[in-house]
Amino acid sequence: MSTKHLDKIVALCKRKGFVFPNSEIYGGLKASYDYGPLGVELKKSISEIWWNSMTRLYSNIVGLDSSIMVHPDVWEASGHIANFNDPLTDNKDSKKRYRVDDLLAQQKTKVIDSLCEILSIKNNNDNETIDNISQFLLKNSNEWKSALSEAGVIDPFSGNVGNWTEVTQFNLMFQTNAGPSEKTGKSIFLRPETAQGIYINYLLVQNSMRLKVPFGIAQIGKAFRNEIIARNFIFRTREFEQMEMQYFVKPSEDNEAMKFWKKERMDFFSTKLGIDDKNLRFHEHSEDNLAHYAKAAFDIEYNFPFGWGEIEGIHNRTDFDLKQHEKHSGKNLTYFDPIENEKYHPYIIETSTGLNRLFLMVLCEFYHEDTNNNRTVLKLPFDLAPNKLVICPLLKKDGLPEKSNEVFNKLSKEYRCIYDEQGSIGKRYYRQDEAGTPFGITVDHETLENNSVTIRERDTMQQHRVEINKISEFINDKKN
Ligand code: ATP
Repeated sequence: MSTKHLDKIVALCKRKGFVFPNSEIYGGLKASYDYGPLGVELKKSISEIWWNSMTRLYSNIVGLDSSIMVHPDVWEASGHIANFNDPLTDNKDSKKRYRVDDLLAQQKTKVIDSLCEILSIKNNNDNETIDNISQFLLKNSNEWKSALSEAGVIDPFSGNVGNWTEVTQFNLMFQTNAGPSEKTGKSIFLRPETAQGIYINYLLVQNSMRLKVPFGIAQIGKAFRNEIIARNFIFRTREFEQMEMQYFVKPSEDNEAMKFWKKERMDFFSTKLGIDDKNLRFHEHSEDNLAHYAKAAFDIEYNFPFGWGEIEGIHNRTDFDLKQHEKHSGKNLTYFDPIENEKYHPYIIETSTGLNRLFLMVLCEFYHEDTNNNRTVLKLPFDLAPNKLVICPLLKKDGLPEKSNEVFNKLSKEYRCIYDEQGSIGKRYYRQDEAGTPFGITVDHETLENNSVTIRERDTMQQHRVEINKISEFINDKKN
């Protein structure tokens, strides 16, 4: 799938009510999007599938909904104030600002070769090499002020070699004030990840639910990052939703748990969301590229139209976070193990995925151009489809709308249905193919005689005659 497809998906999202550009009547706010009527449903379905798979399938995982705003010391303890930075550089000529790894990803191989030579960095011709270069320049910015210009790094805006500033760091947290006055109010931050809300509550959750290690805490919520470059539609935005599950284990059992969750999470994408295995892969972070808190880290990546991109991070965060919060809060955060009769700080295996990225992944995966029939079809699995059935009277007369309403009222108790009586039946079906609705039901004159309807399948376009009281049976059988 090419980037052309992404443009088509963006257009489809707006046309069909999945995703709208934010503040459009004011000229828009960059990298900010609103989810329309079909978008909310799809987003809800994805998050429900994730939530249920976490909190129902595993008896030792429970839920939490913590605040977006927390005590400012939380971010001091977690290391976000000191370390949650992206490397950036400005072109003094074009006045354009770039995130260094992003800028480098857009360069020709010979530019990267030359940078690796100048900085004596091993070149593996991959994203990791690019990350290594940006991190190196960030740490040694003074010494290598002109490396980017020397290597001939092109400014994508001007098309010329940039007159680059030294690489500096930019903290990604949004800062604001609590309380009525800026002077008296304490400076607080919008959370850049939902994880910390789980860590600071972990003993309250454990005690209230009488949990024993190993146990997990799952949470879905908004996170905010002041990304320097936000692009590729909803892939990278400044406001987004995370679905995280933090798994607390005995320190000696961390590797085993990591192995377990890597497999479970990969299986989730293929079995629960129906993503083709060939579009999924693991990417392991090398030691040089690990976050300050991590002992091991794997990303699950999806093959987007613009290339492979991270959809989920699985990290072994060790006991770093709990020990940091203990140090900064002065409160004992050890867990008492009644079986071993010992106290320890559990290790944490984190699985962290972005709801908006999964939304984009699902659209890319199931977007299909059916050239034989001159139609676009969103082949969403039944559980993900925003509407499951469209109910159409063949004509707007002869009592067919009334009979269709009867069918609608009966079926809408079980499925999310819509009613459509506008345009030819073919056009109505095609409209719903693009919206991902798996089944179309047509009420015609025969319905009035024998209480049967036509059911048309979205993907095969096959039609079946089914009695009204057997529709549920038919759908439940077909949907699997
Ligand atoms: P990236 O390298 O793409 O910036 P990250 O490694 O910083 O991502 P994590 O901190 O591991 O991401 O966050 C976990 C998940 O949250 C990611 O896998 C992604 O799905 C989602 N996510 C992170 N940043 C964003 C963003 N700016 N917009 C949308 N989703 C995001």
